This record gives sequence, C-alpha cells and structure tokens, in this order.
Amino acid sequence: MNRHVLIAGGGIAGMATGFAAAREGWGVSVFERAAAFSEVGAGVQLGPNVTRILQAWGLDGALKQVAAFPTDLHARSLVTGAVLATWPVKDAVTRYGAPYVTLHRADLHGLLMQAAAHEGVHVHSDASVQRVSQSPDEAVLEVVQQGQTQHHPASLAVAADGVWSPLRQQVLDDGLPAFTGHIAYRALVAQANLPMHLRRQEVSVWMGAHAHVVSYPVRGGEFLNVVCLAEGRLMDADAKHLKALQTWNAQKSEAQTLAELHHALRGACTPLIDLMAACSDWRLWPLCGRPAMQGSHEHAQGRLVLVGDAAHPMLPYLAQGAGMAIEDACALASHLSGSSAVDVPQALQRFAHARWQRNARVQSRAVRNGQIFHATGPMRVGRDISLRMMGARVMDVPWLYGYQAGAKP
Ligand SMILES: Cc1cc2nc3c(=O)[nH]c(=O)nc-3n(C[C@H](O)[C@H](O)[C@H](O)COP(=O)(O)OP(=O)(O)OC[C@H]3O[C@@H](n4cnc5c(N)ncnc54)[C@H](O)[C@@H]3O)c2cc1C
Repeated sequence: MNRHVLIAGGGIAGMATGFAAAREGWGVSVFERAAAFSEVGAGVQLGPNVTRILQAWGLDGALKQVAAFPTDLHARSLVTGAVLATWPVKDAVTRYGAPYVTLHRADLHGLLMQAAAHEGVHVHSDASVQRVSQSPDEAVLEVVQQGQTQHHPASLAVAADGVWSPLRQQVLDDGLPAFTGHIAYRALVAQANLPMHLRRQEVSVWMGAHAHVVSYPVRGGEFLNVVCLAEGRLMDADAKHLKALQTWNAQKSEAQTLAELHHALRGACTPLIDLMAACSDWRLWPLCGRPAMQGSHEHAQGRLVLVGDAAHPMLPYLAQGAGMAIEDACALASHLSGSSAVDVPQALQRFAHARWQRNARVQSRAVRNGQIFHATGPMRVGRDISLRMMGARVMDVPWLYGYQAGAKP
C-alpha cells in the first residue's frame, strides 16, 4: 500500500493537513463538498503558536502579503469604552519568536490551498464524502462526485469535515453538535469608508454583560473585521434548521439582524455604537459545539484521524479554532514523517495521545474566557480590577502561545 492520505473536507484543517502531509512525502487527495470555496467568513487572529508553524512551513512571505500585524490588543469596557488593559502583541516576536497576526479567513484558506497545490495535493471539489470503512490494511472513503458514487482506498483517512462532521458521527456515534447559546454577528468594512476616529489598526475587545465585540484589521489593514458575540436564544424555526444556518448567512433580514444586535449591545458606549452603525451587511452564525475532548479516541480510530473542528469545535473566545487545526496538521505530519503505510494506526495513536489534552484545554479555556468577557456583578468588578492592576500579564498566555506543535518528546 502506498503512503497516501485521503482528506474529507477542504477547510483550514483539510488544507493545512494536506499541505503538511505532502511535505512529508505522502500523496494527498482532498474531497470538498462545496463546488467553490466561499469568500464569506470571519476574520481570524493567529497567535505565535500558529504563525511559528506557518514560518516553519515557509509560508511567512505569503502571510505578510495578506495579514495585518497589530501592535496592541486593548481590553475595553463596552459601556464606557475605557481601556482596561493593553497587551502589546507586537512583542510576541521577541517573546515567542513569531508574530501575532490578524487576517481574513478566506486569505488564510487561500494561502494554504496555494501551498497545498504547490506540494502536489489533489483537491476534488463538489465531492461529498458519505462514509468511511476500514480494514486492518486500509481506509476507504465513499465519495459522491457528479452524481457518481466512488470508493477511494488509502492507508489513511482524515476527517476534516468541520463541526457537523458526518464521519465523526459515523465513527464516534456521539450525535449532532448542540447550539452553545452564543451567536456571532459579523461585518467587514473598508477602513477608507470609516470616519477617521473609527479606523483601527489594533485589536479591541469591548466586554459587556452577556456580550462582547471584537474588532481588528484584515487584508493588510485595509478592512476592519467587526464581530459581536452575544448570548442569546434562537427562534424555534432557526433552532430546527441549525445546520443550514452555519453559513454566515442565516435567513434573516438585515433589519431583524440589526434589531438583535442592538438588543445585545444595549448600553454600549457611543464610539462602539458609531462603529456598529458604520458597518453594513451584518451576517450571523449561531455557534454550535461539543464538550471538551474526553480522550485520545476522539482523535484517532484505526486508520481514521479527526482534526480541526471535526475533533474539537470550540467557542471563538480564545481565537484558536483555526490555530488548533493548524497545530493538528503540523503534529500529524510530524508523526507520519517516519512512518510507513503499515505503521499508520500506531502513528495515529501517538498523534492522538500527543494532541487531545492540548485541544481539550484550549476548548475549556475558551468557555472560561467567554464567562470572563461576559461577566456581570462581582465577577465583572474582579475582572476589571485585575485587568487594571496586572494588565498584559493576565492577557498573555504562555502555555498557549509558547507551545511547539509537532515537537516529539
Ligand atoms: C465568529 C468566529 C470567529 C473565529 N475566530 C477565530 C480566530 O480568531 N482564530 C482562530 O484560530 N479561529 C477562529 N475561529 C474558528 C475557525 O474559523 C474554525 O475553527 C476553523 O475554520 C475550523 O476549520 P475546519 O477546517 O476544521 O472546519 P471548516 O472550516 O468548517 O471546514 C470543513 C470543510 O469540510 C467540508 N465538508 C463538510 N462535510 C463534508 C463532506 N461530507 N464531504 C466533503 N466535505 C465536507 C465543508 O464544506 C468545509 O469546507 C472563529 C470561528 C468563528 C465562528
């Protein structure tokens, strides 16, 4: 059997894994359900734990073309707008050896896809993976492409098919993800279209009761990505069609979305209200998830490995979902590098043991961050005092940003 990897899903996790495996000499085929890759999506922040990997992959030049390099991250009060603490994220380079960047998700995806194509990865679009089956010697993906069902065998299959992963549901049988009670509203605005006082080249997090807003530059700083994350309920009709809502384009009118947004941000300071009003084309995404990983079996089963949101969907409150997908890709490639096709199940077990606790910790910390960001009462008072007194020391997270994915013990 050849050293060949089949990947279900061509998102950040699928492309990063395909690229990283191909660099280690594996043949790679990616099957993506969508007919075309969408430009719609949120921005992403990538910490030095992730940009370090992109540097090692030789992608720092491509990253510089599309990313913004903010100097500071400000924690602010949503009500007064006051800066509670500042973390000079520009110092990540000296502290961690790699930058803290912000970019559009489509730009990150595009650079990974280009790098994967350069390494010889074959991407099949409009190709929906239905099932996986396994024998001791191979994994087989059943794929429907142009109305035809095909069976593709290989030494290894990767489930990179996102939070609703059909392959996860098949092999782990743990049901569908659930609505987390959190909704993201997102807008992208050209900085040139904003009044001067609203233009931003830094990251700002405005923290309020049960909601917060994050803004940061993307597309080299030319656009501002603005996301409001709010606790809320879904209307019954939406709750029944949760999966269909996972497109940044829920079937709501702009007026309905704006009304919800204003409700979530009632009491916000004037500069923030002005910023929200200056943005248009708001899109919303109900956030769905699962509990933190419970064990290595959620990463690997025989010759199947789960990566990215398929394995560990997380709330975006630590800004690490795509980051963990890229760490997974790096670690998996490192475990596959010296392995033959025969050794795959052992290599996947080693990968799973190396990764699951890290991913579980990041998932749990993201939930905790949400509680801190959205705190009310004494917890909010305590949060603001510690931010004012300790500043960057409570915002920097060395165990997160100093981590070296793929390093073997
Ligand atoms: C509001 C918000 C803000 C975020 N901010 C950040 C941030 O700042 N930093 C960060 O690191 N992360 C962030 N994230 C998280 C990040 O976007 C995700 O964790 C990441 O995109 C997951 O990538 P993935 O490839 O695992 O899944 P996806 O991006 O969902 O990709 C899965 C792919 O699989 C395909 N697929 C599904 N089923 C099939 C099938 N049966 N056959 C074939 N293909 C299939 C899908 O079409 C899709 O292309 C944020 C997320 C949100 C919602």
